[in-house]
Amino acid sequence: MKQLNRTQNEQNLVHSAITQIRKQYQNEQTEEVPKEIMENKYFTEYEQLNELELLTNKHIKYCTKKLLNIGYSIFYLDVGQPWCIYWPLNALSILQDDVSKYENQIIQYLEKCKIGGFTGGPNQFEHLAPTYSSLLSLFILSTPAALGLIDRQALEKFFWSVQDPTEKGSYLMHVNGEADIRAVYIVVIMVVILKLDPKLLDGCAEYIASCQTYEGGIGGVRYSEAHGGYTFCGYAALVCMKKADYIDQEKLMNWLVNRQMENEGGFNGRTNKVVDACYSFWQGAIFKLLIQSGYVDEQLMNVFELKNYIHMCQNASGGIFDKPSKSPDAYHTCYGLSGYSLADSNFQNPIYNIPNKCIEFVQNFFQ
Ligand SMILES: [Zn+2]
Repeated sequence: MKQLNRTQNEQNLVHSAITQIRKQYQNEQTEEVPKEIMENKYFTEYEQLNELELLTNKHIKYCTKKLLNIGYSIFYLDVGQPWCIYWPLNALSILQDDVSKYENQIIQYLEKCKIGGFTGGPNQFEHLAPTYSSLLSLFILSTPAALGLIDRQALEKFFWSVQDPTEKGSYLMHVNGEADIRAVYIVVIMVVILKLDPKLLDGCAEYIASCQTYEGGIGGVRYSEAHGGYTFCGYAALVCMKKADYIDQEKLMNWLVNRQMENEGGFNGRTNKVVDACYSFWQGAIFKLLIQSGYVDEQLMNVFELKNYIHMCQNASGGIFDKPSKSPDAYHTCYGLSGYSLADSNFQNPIYNIPNKCIEFVQNFFQ
């Protein structure tokens, strides 16, 4: 008998659990659940929902609790505390909750993380990842006070300090840190929207293009495996610079359409990997970007199936998880809802992953 490797085994378990869950939703399954399914961890820990719909109010409650608990984040995400603001804040704004009531608290907190770029928490070093999540949080608030916290000159200085000394167009996540496509993406999109020195963009498109793999997706660095998160970062940066044609978009599209899993409806991040709700955004947004770049003129993903997968990844009391059997968290709630929103509406901006109305406000604010 053919021995299955861990990934294939896992994939089969996820497939059969989700198929069973869907049957129950659609009331196709009236008989007893088969024994092997009852022993399947992805099924057994699944909390059943009444129907397949978005639990908006439950998610608002869940995210509000997360957002107001900034101090607690230090226990589990010490070097990424601004993320603990951005994830629930972005989710709340997608759910059309009024986020203005959190403005003062968020500004006060992020002020403690500001140098020129932002740090992962008070008294830490500047780092591109918390700089990204801090800036996006301030953009979402979209008020003069929030945007007034941004020191464009100091930010520009920080960006120059993280240029990769060994590779033109590449950036380091922090001074002396690792280089990868995330860093290029963050610098590019912030330079464009904040109207910083365009020389910071020199060589970026060429560098990103050199990271496209034989499969068509983009790797974190050159010669590495195509991955949903890095592909999003690379392609979003190219679309932002209006240089989408620097990569082979036909190949990108072929890789991308094969990431939506037939049984689950959600996306995986890499070839032969298991489906995960956060790729609803990382992969899902690329479909939208292919339209924005003008390469295709229609949505190529199965929106209905994706939404159903996200429905199945909802915790009955709020929050979204990676896949049945996992616990909900702010990260998967943010990216599950972002993918959900992007799939069939124009509310979110696919490059920045914040509402389009906020992008407009920021663009007008910084002249
Ligand atoms: Zn995930």
